[in-house]
Amino acid sequence: MAFEGLSERLQSALQKLRGKGKVSEADVKEAMREVRLALLEADVNYKVVKDFIAKVRERAVGQEVLKSLTPGQQVIKVVNEELTRLMGGEQSKLELKSKPSVIMMVGLQGAGKTTTTGKLAHYLSKKQNRRPLLVAADVYRPAAIRQLEVLGEQIGLPVFSLGDKENPVRIAEEGVARAKEEGHDVVLIDTAGRLHIDENMMDELKAIREKVKPDEILLVVDAMTGQDAVNVAESFNRELELTGVVLTKLDGDTRGGAALSVKAVTDRPVKFAGMGEKVDALEPFHPDRMASRILG
Ligand code: GDP
Repeated sequence: MAFEGLSERLQSALQKLRGKGKVSEADVKEAMREVRLALLEADVNYKVVKDFIAKVRERAVGQEVLKSLTPGQQVIKVVNEELTRLMGGEQSKLELKSKPSVIMMVGLQGAGKTTTTGKLAHYLSKKQNRRPLLVAADVYRPAAIRQLEVLGEQIGLPVFSLGDKENPVRIAEEGVARAKEEGHDVVLIDTAGRLHIDENMMDELKAIREKVKPDEILLVVDAMTGQDAVNVAESFNRELELTGVVLTKLDGDTRGGAALSVKAVTDRPVKFAGMGEKVDALEPFHPDRMASRILG
């Protein structure tokens, strides 16, 4: 299960405070030492941990907390609120304004980009009554186009493709034109990923962005890769100005580093979470629910 180790360690660190009628500054300090270790062990970014602990400690040793009737509970509440804030606070929704709205899906190979493109189209059609068109512009990963076509058949949505010999910029542009002609209100472009970040990929993504003027540029990253995912997000954000992140594989036994650091490091919100391989295994990301789940 995701965050299992982190969850257990945080709960045990805070358990000691829970039932206490009186909590001293030293108690808070000791608990925060353990919380800090738990976060570092879960692969949360070092600086993020430092700021988080400082913030919680400052609030937790405040008079209103320590002098309250249930000081232990109050400290836990502070941790919960700060964890929520760390992950972005309010839920971040998609902002789809243009007609048709364009969503560019970007990411490295293997992160789950193509699968997530299908899942998101399914979500928009089922939950928001939209009429998505999928555009297959990942001409580099073998079989990515076919994979999107199969997904399209599975979810009953059309897929625009020009094969893998065409320039992805042209595919994206023609896909959007097709969506206009056929009255689709949202276009999801599965762009070309690579194994590693390189200049060609970024140039190509920028060229697509210039042509199609996306409403959303969502980076798909694998939560299992921890700080690597955060570094990938930083690079993509620097080059492309992302509008959000989708964290995949949160159904696996990820330690939590990516989920807890990506917003703080990149200032880009996590908008969705992938919870499995099936097409309906995509959920809007709710920082408050995630925090409560971690704290048990
Ligand atoms: P791409 O190269 O980024 O387009 O990656 P794919 O979409 O082909 O996904 C790579 C693998 O990750 C596939 O086996 C997917 O089924 C799997 N995958 C994607 N998202 C999730 C998820 O949220 N949970 C799990 N368990 N597997 C996922």
